[in-house]
Amino acid sequence: MEFREIYCFNCKKSLGRYNEKYFSEQKINEIIKMNHASHIYEGHEIVVKRVTA
Ligand SMILES: [Zn+2]
Repeated sequence: MEFREIYCFNCKKSLGRYNEKYFSEQKINEIIKMNHASHIYEGHEIVVKRVTA
């Protein structure tokens, strides 16, 4: 399956994986804002990677 993985470079860890089938890029951006805002406030670099698992 294809996933979108939210990854923080500063923390060097994955913040979550979401099935691409059910989560659009827009939805992922909402999740980042809602659930991972602390990383953004601290100026961390967050990327969304596509992974196959
Ligand atoms: Zn972080």
